[in-house]
Amino acid sequence: MKTPLTKLKGIGATRAAAFERLGITDAESLLSYYPRSYEDHSVIKNLSEIAPYDSCSVIASVVTTPTLSRIRKGLDILRFTISDGTATCKVTYFNQPYLKNSFVKGETYLFYGRFEGNFINHTLTNPYFEKTDIEEEGSSQPIKPIYTVGKGLTQKAVVSAVHSALDMCEVEEYMPSYILDKYKLPSLKEALDAVHRPENMAQVKYGRSRLIFDEFLMLSLGLFMKKSQSGRSSGAPCKMVEMAPFYDSLGYDLTEAQQRSINEGISDMCGVSPMNRLVQGDVGSGKTAVSAALCYFAIKNGWQSAIIAPTEILAKQHYEKLSALFGKFGMKVSLLTGSTKKKERDEILNALKDGKTDLMIATHALMVEDVVFDRLGLLVCDEQHRFGVRQRAAAVQKGNSPHLLVMSATPIPRTLALMIYGDLEISVIDTMPPGRRVTKTHYVSSKQRGQVNSFIRKKLNDGEQGYIVCPLVEGSDGLPEVKDAVSHRDELKKLFPDIEIGLIHGRMKPAEKDEEMKKFVSGESRILIATTVIEVGVDVKNATFMIIENAERFGLSQLHQLRGRVGRGNKQSYCIIVSDHEAPDTVERLKVLESTADGFEIAKKDLELRGPGDFFGSRQHGLPTLRIADMAGDTVTLHAAQETAREIYRSDPDLEKKEHKILKTKIQELFSVDKASILN
Ligand code: ADP
Ligand code: MG
Repeated sequence: MKTPLTKLKGIGATRAAAFERLGITDAESLLSYYPRSYEDHSVIKNLSEIAPYDSCSVIASVVTTPTLSRIRKGLDILRFTISDGTATCKVTYFNQPYLKNSFVKGETYLFYGRFEGNFINHTLTNPYFEKTDIEEEGSSQPIKPIYTVGKGLTQKAVVSAVHSALDMCEVEEYMPSYILDKYKLPSLKEALDAVHRPENMAQVKYGRSRLIFDEFLMLSLGLFMKKSQSGRSSGAPCKMVEMAPFYDSLGYDLTEAQQRSINEGISDMCGVSPMNRLVQGDVGSGKTAVSAALCYFAIKNGWQSAIIAPTEILAKQHYEKLSALFGKFGMKVSLLTGSTKKKERDEILNALKDGKTDLMIATHALMVEDVVFDRLGLLVCDEQHRFGVRQRAAAVQKGNSPHLLVMSATPIPRTLALMIYGDLEISVIDTMPPGRRVTKTHYVSSKQRGQVNSFIRKKLNDGEQGYIVCPLVEGSDGLPEVKDAVSHRDELKKLFPDIEIGLIHGRMKPAEKDEEMKKFVSGESRILIATTVIEVGVDVKNATFMIIENAERFGLSQLHQLRGRVGRGNKQSYCIIVSDHEAPDTVERLKVLESTADGFEIAKKDLELRGPGDFFGSRQHGLPTLRIADMAGDTVTLHAAQETAREIYRSDPDLEKKEHKILKTKIQELFSVDKASILN
């Protein structure tokens, strides 16, 4: 039974619409809109014992008269100083002029926030505050849940709506009591109360343990159930063929790991059901050769193959390499992207339909209806974490149960991968091609800009090329400390007037991007200024250095991907990460990159530091989003839940027993949003 949002206290149509934009459609779904984090106001410190970047409360008096200044239209600043007798702190509120009357000189308040500045001169920006008595010495609300709010919503509005929902909704328990007893978990109602209006952090932990368990259990159980439904038989049966001619044409020896992955793929494709395999290998480990070998195998067996790349640049690059390779065997390779001209496109599609094309390389332009294969036998998705499950599913429809190979550079720990992909088999390429040198990484501040520039000059003099990555395309209005690609190029042109400097970013037309990429590949441009458009796949062997500006604005795995663009030949490569941020978590993140080149290590660290949210992208993997569980931190719960799921599945595979009935409905609901998932 669903309760409309407008039944909740204080929610009218406008606010309900704001909640709907967050995917919250009724009071019940609001209950599973969990806080993103908590502020623990109960930890109160003296100002004198606070270290920079501490988050805590202080109880302090306002010692200067609050002043409100209007810097310009849209920028009001309220400033005053507070003291608790041990030290002072400057407080600033931006764009909340109405707060001016909330603070009176001489009065005492509780302030909570993240302290910045240094040990002596503390500063606080937009802190939480409440009026307090010295005698009371504490916050009226010791634990404050923090929700992600969207447009048209405030923390206060979400909190009040959630409280109202907790009071109003009938919470239906779906977990059988024998499981709750076994793992000593609270009831659903208790758990929801604990995470939404806790009195202390221990309560939060207890409540979360139950909700995390639920998510993992349902995910596992759902996957078990799906797997049993997917007993399809292969639409593209294959038998062994001679592979030596292909291997001989590569011009290098495959690494053992590549050979193993190819053999695993071939063995799948000779089996009775379609291959469903994930090839995981760090950037530069040579995944392309593995997919090419399997395409060759499928083509030799009489099938057509297709490779889908996430970007046009990458599709082009694959096309150039593979058309040369496959051409030697008289196999026809075509390229289809969003910018393929109409006339050419018609020809390509006809050849594909008539079965003349053996290998089709495409972007998601492949996914439109009029693209028809004669006999698609193998579909390869490159760099899949960039590629939605839905799109993959649509692509699979292009054939009759074709084999599927997914390639990813994101080295997800194996247990997590199984959890996410469920029924995918996994091949791991865990060694690099020989002769590869580890890219040397240096983490510097912009004070060392002079050295960085002379380093660039030296590399250019050696005839080498490099990338410079900026977080923004153009105009860093309001963010003066952030480099944007366009003005950074102007700066560098002055420093290196004799050098052709290219520029590539996401706002350019595909043809323009192509042109820039071509110039860089041919060596006409020696430096390529880029945004993250070059993050995936680009392979230019002569590029030996990369400078990443404002590195603090990128995630760890993303930085690792970017860095993977260099170090692809056998020359020593360098990556310089520039950042002036001093926040400890940023510094830690960037140091990880400096100290290891191991993508697996980095992925683990990234999970630890940021949680899996960013890591897996929202719905990209096509499974229910984990709202509360953190795959990295909760492995104990993960295992308990998986174990339980397995037990339930064994004893009651279709969840027909009475005690599993509500659970079954819950799981069906959860998975139904992703009907298009290839896991179906
Ligand atoms: P990724 O796994 O990041 O997709 P690529 O497939 O682009 O990596 O390969 C990176 C580079 O290494 C390519 O230039 C490729 O030609 C080369 N390469 C791949 N396998 C080998 C090998 N076994 N020996 C030498 N070079 C190889
Ligand atoms: Mg690749």
